[in-house]
Amino acid sequence: MELVNLKNSGDTASFAEAVKRGLGKNQGLYFPATIPTLGDVDELLDKPFVERSIAILRSIIGDELGDGLLEEIVQQAFTFPAPVETVTDRIYTLELFHGPTLAFKDFGGRFMAQCLSRISAGEPVTILTATSGDTGAAVARAFHGIENINVVILFPKGKISPLQEKLFSTLGDNVHTVAVEGDFDICQSLVKTAFDDPDVREGLHLNSANSINISRLLAQVCYYFEAVSQIPAEKREQLVVSVPSGNFGNLTAGMIAKAMGLPIKRFIAATNLNDTVPRYLKTGEWEPNATVATMSNAMDVSQPNNWPRIEALIEQGYIDKSCLRGESVDEEYTQLAMRQLAHHGYTSEPHAAIAFRAVSHDLNEGEYGLFLGTAHPAKFRETVENVLGQPLSLPKPLQEVAGKESLAVTLPADYQALKAHMMELLK
Ligand SMILES: *Cc1c(COP(=O)(O)O)cnc(C)c1O
Repeated sequence: MELVNLKNSGDTASFAEAVKRGLGKNQGLYFPATIPTLGDVDELLDKPFVERSIAILRSIIGDELGDGLLEEIVQQAFTFPAPVETVTDRIYTLELFHGPTLAFKDFGGRFMAQCLSRISAGEPVTILTATSGDTGAAVARAFHGIENINVVILFPKGKISPLQEKLFSTLGDNVHTVAVEGDFDICQSLVKTAFDDPDVREGLHLNSANSINISRLLAQVCYYFEAVSQIPAEKREQLVVSVPSGNFGNLTAGMIAKAMGLPIKRFIAATNLNDTVPRYLKTGEWEPNATVATMSNAMDVSQPNNWPRIEALIEQGYIDKSCLRGESVDEEYTQLAMRQLAHHGYTSEPHAAIAFRAVSHDLNEGEYGLFLGTAHPAKFRETVENVLGQPLSLPKPLQEVAGKESLAVTLPADYQALKAHMMELLK
């Protein structure tokens, strides 16, 4: 597989190089030089999830990893199902939250961990990442116990839900967690400073594992096929997929799946009040506002990292511009959508509810909707209980960590303090 830096076409990389580098020169994103079209998609859709995913990834990545290795990686990463549930007579949901940390980020996080541990075989690597909730847990779980890889997760102290925190701060071993006395933006800027510091970047072999890593994106392509395989064949050509979006990795993966030949009619980019993309799609003006806090906090992003890849898919002719619409949903309609879903007998959380609202609002005659369920409702227990007025029970992964002690170390929002801590920890 060849990847090209979208900011510098002279900067190319193999899959393995792109996985190790994360970002290219000038902070440019790597994008496939060509996206293959699959032969017989219907035949592929009849296969089981893991077998089909290996075939899809082999057609994109090629034989760079060797056949046996890719098979092993997929088998170890995709160990949980992605079921489609029927919500109304015209609307389905794809549940992506049956992995160990109950959010769709488990797919990309686990695939990346398996790829990186094999590609860097034996060399030490330090994963340094900042999280506002779900990414940290998925990455920490995915890399926990993998030899030669250390993980350092920064999170804003007291600003993520206690259960979210416990999913990654109770692991120990090679997973080190730091509660920073500051907000998420400060955590992110500490990570950036570390990457600009050669002592730390080279000394500790830093890798960020964030959502711009190509391996995370490619893993996510696979569950769009899994979704369509569960939709009755006669409805597939009329399928409208609504993606709750923040950094836009999930939507990028869906559009790559369509470019490869998956029958999806069009997409809806569903956002909360952080509506840079829906406004851009209407006006053609890219005008990010300051980020506002919402109930769907994993989507509180006003400058989405992955957007240049979506532009590339359109500009390079893989996806027609008319196949993407944007819709922003405010806090009141998010709550209304959660209650409507409950009325249909389906308990949901704010992120998925936004995608449901967007698709039920936008569906034309003859079309069918599918919205992505990106997190388990219990991850947002307080919000869901408040909005629905009903108690919610905890699924097993959350029960298991609820009573454990957090092992996080608290540090001030100061780079020198972080550097000293990391150098001591990982020397
Ligand atoms: C990360 C996240 C999103 C946003 O996904 P992107 O790929 O960044 O657009 C949506 N919902 C939940 C629950 C998430 O954790």
